[in-house]
Amino acid sequence: MSDSVDAVDSVREQAVVGAVPTGVFIGGGWRDATGGARLVVEDPSTGRPLAEVADATPDDGLAALDAAAAAQASWASTPPRVRGEVLRRTYELLTARVEDLALLMTLEMGKPVAESRAEVAYAAEFFRWFAEEAVRIDGRYTVNPNGGARLLVMRQPVGPCLLITPWNFPMAMGTRKLGPAIAAGCTMVCKPAELTPLSMLALAEILAEAGLPPGVLNVVTTSRAGDVTRPLLADRRLRKLSFTGSTAVGRQLIGLAADNVLRVSMELGGNAPFLVFEDADLEAAVEGAVIAKMRNVGEACTAANRFHVHESVADEFATRLAGRLGAMTVGRGTQEGVQVGPLVDGRQRAKVAELVDDATARGATALLGGRPLDGPGYFYAPTVLTDVPAGARMLREEVFGPVAPIVPFATEDEAVAAANDTEYGLVAYVYTTGLERALRVVERLETGMVGLNQGLVSNPAAPFGGVKHSGFGREGGREGIDEYLATKYVAVKLA
Ligand code: ADP
Repeated sequence: MSDSVDAVDSVREQAVVGAVPTGVFIGGGWRDATGGARLVVEDPSTGRPLAEVADATPDDGLAALDAAAAAQASWASTPPRVRGEVLRRTYELLTARVEDLALLMTLEMGKPVAESRAEVAYAAEFFRWFAEEAVRIDGRYTVNPNGGARLLVMRQPVGPCLLITPWNFPMAMGTRKLGPAIAAGCTMVCKPAELTPLSMLALAEILAEAGLPPGVLNVVTTSRAGDVTRPLLADRRLRKLSFTGSTAVGRQLIGLAADNVLRVSMELGGNAPFLVFEDADLEAAVEGAVIAKMRNVGEACTAANRFHVHESVADEFATRLAGRLGAMTVGRGTQEGVQVGPLVDGRQRAKVAELVDDATARGATALLGGRPLDGPGYFYAPTVLTDVPAGARMLREEVFGPVAPIVPFATEDEAVAAANDTEYGLVAYVYTTGLERALRVVERLETGMVGLNQGLVSNPAAPFGGVKHSGFGREGGREGIDEYLATKYVAVKLA
C-alpha cells in the first residue's frame, strides 16, 4: 500500500477536480453560498483536502426551491419525448466521459477506479432506462359498470421534489432519483452528501449541457443538512421527499414529511443475510460472497452483512472466502489493480473497528484481518471472522466495511429464522441448487429483494427497495417512475 502519487497522476487528478463547478446550482446558474462559506472535501486515501465547495445556508435551500417551483409548470408541459431526450443525451455524455468521472469519484469516495467506472455506467443506465419510460406514462379509459359514465385515469408529475443522497454511490444514488423525476416532469432540489458532493456537481453541469432547462434541477451542497432541508420539508410548494441514507435520519425525515403530508420514498439501512445451504455450489457461493461483501469496500446497504452457512460446509466456505479476500490488493483506488480502497472517513473506520472488537471480545476468531491498516488514509484490512456468537453487535448492526462474519446453522428453518431476525429487510442472498428449497426460502424471507445464486441485485431495470426498517418505495424498473407520478381520475358524464 502506498500513498505516493506520481507527478503525472497528480496533474491529471488536479485537472479533473479543478474542472468541477463548486458553487450551488440554482435556476441554471452557479453561485457562491450566501455569506461565502465553503466546505472541504477530503481524499479518504490520504486524509488530505481535495477540494472546497459551497457550504449552502437555509436561504440557499429556499432559493433552490423557489427555482424548482418556478420551473415546475413548464417542465410538466414539456413533451415527454423532449424530457426523455435530455436523459438520453446525458447518458451518452456520461458514457463518453466515464474515465474522468470515475477518477473524480474515486478521489472523493475512495473506491477502486474500476468500481467507479462501473458506477458511472450503472448511474448512466438509469438515465437510459428512464429516457425510455418518459414516453410510456399512460393511463386508462373505462366504462362505468352501470354504463352511464366514463372513467379517465391520468398520471401527472407529483411536483417539486427534495432528493437527499448518500456518499457511498455518489452518482448512482442520484441518477436513480433524478432519472424518474426528470422523465415524469418533476422539478428538483438535490442535496448530495457532504463527504462526496463533486460527482453530483459534475452531473448537474452535464445535465445542463444536455439541455435540461434552468430550475428543473437545483443542487445545494452543505455541511448543515438538517438546517437546510427542514424549511423545504415544511414548505407547501414541496410535494415529495426521496431519501437514501441511514434509518436513523430517515425516521426523522419521515416525521417532518408527515407534518406537510409529503409523498415519501425511503431507501434506508440494510443487514443482508447471505445463506449458503449444504446443496449449494460452493465455488459459486464463494464467488458471490466476494461480490456481495467487497463491492464498494463493503460500504453498501446491499452488502452481505452476515454469512449463515450450513454447518457441514461452514469451515470450507470460511477457508475459501478468507483465501479470496486475503489475496485482494488494498491501496489507493486510483491505482489500476487495486481491489480494496479506504473507507470513506475516520468515523466510518472507527465504527467498523468497534464492531470487530466487540465480536472478538465476545469470542469470535479472526481467520483473516481484524484491524485497521497503518499509514495515511482510512484503510481497514479485509476480515473474515468465525465463531461469531449470537450476541455480537455486527450480526444486528450494519457493518459498512470489508468484514465477513460467518455463523453456522443446522436446518432450513433455523437459517430462515436467523435471516429474518433483524429490523431491516432490504436484500438477502441465497445459495442452493434445490429448486423447491429455493422457492420455499425466497418466499419466507422478509426482504424487498433476493439474490438467488447471485451476489449482486442492483439493476436499473429492476425495482430496488426494502421492507421493514429498510424503507419503502422502489427505485428503477417500471415501478421507479410511479414514485414521481400522481394519479388523477376524471368522472366523465355521458348521457
Ligand atoms: P451516513 O450515516 O451513511 O452518512 P446519513 O443518513 O447520515 O448516512 O446521510 C445520508 C444523507 O442524509 C446525506 O446527504 C446527509 O447529509 C443527509 N442528512 C444527514 N442528516 C440529515 C438531516 N437531519 N436532515 C436531512 N438530511 C440529512
